[in-house]
Amino acid sequence: MNHPLASYRGFLLDIDGVLVRGKAVLPGAPEALAELKTRGHVLFLTNNSTKSRQGVAHHLRSLGFDVRPEEAVPSCYVAAQYLRQRYGLVRFWTLGEAGILEEMTLAGHVPVGPEEAQWIVVGMDRELTYAKLAQALRALLRGARFLATNRDATFPTPEGLVPGAGAIVGALVGMGFEPEEVVGKPSLRSFEVALSTLGLPPHEVLMIGDRLETDVLGAQKAGLDTALVLTGISREQDIAQEGIVPTWVADSLADLIRGKARPGKAAL
Ligand SMILES: [Mg+2]
Repeated sequence: MNHPLASYRGFLLDIDGVLVRGKAVLPGAPEALAELKTRGHVLFLTNNSTKSRQGVAHHLRSLGFDVRPEEAVPSCYVAAQYLRQRYGLVRFWTLGEAGILEEMTLAGHVPVGPEEAQWIVVGMDRELTYAKLAQALRALLRGARFLATNRDATFPTPEGLVPGAGAIVGALVGMGFEPEEVVGKPSLRSFEVALSTLGLPPHEVLMIGDRLETDVLGAQKAGLDTALVLTGISREQDIAQEGIVPTWVADSLADLIRGKARPGKAAL
């Protein structure tokens, strides 16, 4: 039997639940990544909006992974590229952390106060306050447009689940405003930016992730094959339950790279 990875020239890798769990490195993951890089071009596609490409690479390097900034595609980078391609350079204000400000500015967008912003770019903000929400409300009432980097409800930490960007987006939804665009997985925007960075057609690229409803579903909509690894959120029995069937299932990234993967259909 052929190696399950033999027909792909590019790989999109989710980070949390695939390479790491919180700050803990998953067993064999750095070696597996090194091996994967000999098989094709690798990009790291993460809904995290708090870190720029530079920040993601720095974080992963500190954990022992060989990652360069240009290989990272966090949702804040997708937001900046999407806005530039679709609307040109915009004046923006962010309800979020450093990653958004950094990538938006690097892309050429202009940071301004909420009263002047054409776009409010929203992501996880661990320093959210009532005053910031009031500023966002005034900007939205004035007609500012609303882009969400992602709507992940929660994410796992060593202390348990904590609120994700979805909680911040939800605060604005609770005030009567829906995001005009959400760019993080499962949105096609993430995959469009990643594929254009790779320069490969979808059928030559494999998405490797741990969540059926974001990594696998989004990649399938974009025409990619998918591999679910069982080191994160989704379990094998969720495949039948959710009806989202990945091309491949493996117990871990290390197993997938060793060729120990089974077709997702087998779980039905
Ligand atoms: Mg994940």
